[in-house]
Amino acid sequence: MESFPTVILKPGEADRIVAGHPWVYHGSILRTTAQAGDGELVQVKDHRQRLLGIGFYNSKSKINVRVLAPERVEIDQGFFEQRIRAALAVRQRHIPNATSFRVVNAEGDFLSGLIVDKYEDVIAIQISSLGMEKRKEKIVAALQNIFSPRAIVERSDIASRKFEGMEEANGVIAGELDGQVTVTLNGLKFQTNILGGHKTGMYLDQQTSYLAVAQFAKNAQVLDCFSFLGGFGLHAARAGASHVHMLDQSADAVAASLRNAETNNVKAIVSAEAVNVFDWLKANTITKPHEKLLPKFDLIVLDPPSFTRNRASVPDALRGYKEIHVRALKLLKPGGTLATFCCSHHVHSPLFQDTILSAAYDTRKVLRRVATYSQSPDHPIIPMIPETEYLKGFAFELVR
Ligand code: SAH
Repeated sequence: MESFPTVILKPGEADRIVAGHPWVYHGSILRTTAQAGDGELVQVKDHRQRLLGIGFYNSKSKINVRVLAPERVEIDQGFFEQRIRAALAVRQRHIPNATSFRVVNAEGDFLSGLIVDKYEDVIAIQISSLGMEKRKEKIVAALQNIFSPRAIVERSDIASRKFEGMEEANGVIAGELDGQVTVTLNGLKFQTNILGGHKTGMYLDQQTSYLAVAQFAKNAQVLDCFSFLGGFGLHAARAGASHVHMLDQSADAVAASLRNAETNNVKAIVSAEAVNVFDWLKANTITKPHEKLLPKFDLIVLDPPSFTRNRASVPDALRGYKEIHVRALKLLKPGGTLATFCCSHHVHSPLFQDTILSAAYDTRKVLRRVATYSQSPDHPIIPMIPETEYLKGFAFELVR
């Protein structure tokens, strides 16, 4: 095996790596023994020269090394094939019936900088580190061997690539595809544009929660806020809702969600509006003096985008979360259910719940928590890598 330059960590900086966290920040490095090339392999050692692992180096990134393995192994096509098959086995164990899911979720599958999504017979990849970028051919060859997909699409159109010194990239890199793919989640069909939709085409991280929340939908008047392609709304409709109203600010998303309603034969009980949820909730909760607001909904789903970009934006985000909860609670019938989600890593679960309780206090409502939710198992949580946990949710019944 070739010899690699060695990155030696400062005393006290090795523990996190030993425990399984793959990131070595610039500030943790004592010295580097030889010139390490950006995107090339280095070995990482503690200050007593004990080997901690090997990983990809990038001087341009805040994360100088992304550790791949605790021992010296060849990072070839076989390595990627083995890691991807191991990740696939996790999905086959936990969501055995899913045909579309995230196959590799970066740090959650010990492949920092690589995301692989399976949309039926199409594979989408997203690369966010230079080390992975330089081995794209090996990764694609491994994916061909494992999945023999109809097409492989790259969705590396993410701003964070600039922190690694890379341009954005988007396009079909193997096979043929015009972009549109019909994805099946829990037996429902969602048409999406893999070359243009959110993330790598759509959100896969709520696959298990769609079913869990739909349990509350029987005979219900449902409001699905931030509905995108209709994930929650269409699952609720199939589960026997009397009516589902979906809200999303994107006219394209609303049009797609209505097409999806038609494909799944629930169009008759589904409506959708392209609006800003904040505006809609406000317009539907303001009352004239002495006028009493009549709550209309038995089930309200709130699944907003992350309102935070970083830790500093948390206070603003909490104001946003509180506002939608205050207004949603006013629209919820007593005995009804609020299913609410937060996908911001910076807002942890207790803080999210405190924000909801503060909204309940302001509206003089009392809640009973009846379920807690997390990201689907194809977005594995590695507790030693806190960044892998981001999605949390609750269902609350309105006691009064
Ligand atoms: N519930 C969806 C995912 C929602 S993602 C699912 O399960 O797939 C967030 C969605 O919120 C996006 O579709 C985005 O267009 C929409 N959005 C963001 N800000 C919004 C706002 N202020 N009002 C309405 N929709 C908004």
